[in-house]
Amino acid sequence: MSQRRKFIKQSLMGSALFIPGITAIAEAKTPGLFKGEKPLILSTWNHGLPANAAAVKKLKAGGNIVDAVETGVRDTELDMNNLSVGLQGLPDREGITTLDASIMSGDGSCGSVAFVRQVKHPITLARMVMENTPHVMLAGEGARQFAIAQGMPMEKEELSPKAKEAYEKWKVTSKYKPIINIENHDTIGMIGMDANGNLAGSCTTSGLAYKMHGRVGDSPIIGAGLFVDNEVGAATATGLGESIIRICGSFLIVELMRQGRTPQEACEEAVKRLISKNKNISDIQAGFLAINKEGEVGAYAVHPGFNYAKATLTSNDLIDSRSHFNP
Ligand code: ASP
Repeated sequence: MSQRRKFIKQSLMGSALFIPGITAIAEAKTPGLFKGEKPLILSTWNHGLPANAAAVKKLKAGGNIVDAVETGVRDTELDMNNLSVGLQGLPDREGITTLDASIMSGDGSCGSVAFVRQVKHPITLARMVMENTPHVMLAGEGARQFAIAQGMPMEKEELSPKAKEAYEKWKVTSKYKPIINIENHDTIGMIGMDANGNLAGSCTTSGLAYKMHGRVGDSPIIGAGLFVDNEVGAATATGLGESIIRICGSFLIVELMRQGRTPQEACEEAVKRLISKNKNISDIQAGFLAINKEGEVGAYAVHPGFNYAKATLTSNDLIDSRSHFNP
C-alpha cells in the first residue's frame, strides 16, 4: 500500500506538442490531439507492475501490442503468490481450479476460454481461439481438448500449497460470501496502446474463490471483462463478475467514450450503472480501467482499494483508483 501513488501523472500531463512517431506529451486541452504517452500499458492491481514490465519488454523486443498484452498477463498466470489468476488460484467449492481468459485486439478480433482446467496459460489458449478457430469462445472440456490439439501440455490437477491450505480452512464452514478486495477480486486485466495508436487487451483469472462448479465470470466475456476498439479505446474490469456482466461493463465504457466521455467519466458512469443494477452493493467490489484513442486514462471502483499499474517505455507506477464510496 505504502508505495502506491496517487493520480499525479495525469494531472501533470502538460503542454508539449505531439510529434507524430515520437513518444511525447501533447496539449491536454486541444480536442483530438494525443494527450498521453505511447506506448502505454495499464493493468489492474499490484500484480500489474511485473505484468506491465513483461509487456513493455515484449514491445521493446519488437512484439506487437497483442503479443505484449498476452505476454504481460502470462507472467501473472505463473505467479505462485497470486491466488486469483492461473492454476495456483483458489478453487471452486468442489476443490477444482477452473480458469477464464480473454484477449482482444482493436480491429475486433477476439478469443476467449471459460471454465477450463489443467491449462497453465489460458490467455494463450484464448489467443489460439482467436487466431486458429472460426469461433470467439470455447468452454470447459471443449476448451481443454482444443488446448491438447494445439499441443499445450496438460498440468496435473492439484491445488498449489497456498490454495490447498486456504481451501481446507474454507471447508470448515463452507460459507460463501465474497470478501471485498481480499481473496475474491484480483483478476488481471491489461489494456495497451502501441506507438502507432493500436489497442489491445487481455484478461485472465481463476475467478471467484469457492464459486459453484461451472461458474463463469466476466473475464472471458467479450464486452463484460474486456472490450477494445481501435476507433475509440479499450476497457477492462475486475471485481464481482456477475455485477459486471449485468451491465456489459467494458463495452459500456467504450461506447460511452465513443459518445464523447473521457475514460474517467465513462468509468464513473459505468460504476454508477453497476450500483443501480445490483443489490447488496456493500458486498460488491468492481473496478474499471480504461484508455481512449487520445491516450487519456480513467479508473474507478465501487469501493476504495482498487489500484492499477501504468507503464510507458520508461516508467511503471502503481496508482490508487478513486471510488464511488470514497471519491
Ligand atoms: N472478475 C473476476 C470474476 O468475477 C474476479 C476478479 O476480478 O478477481 O471472475
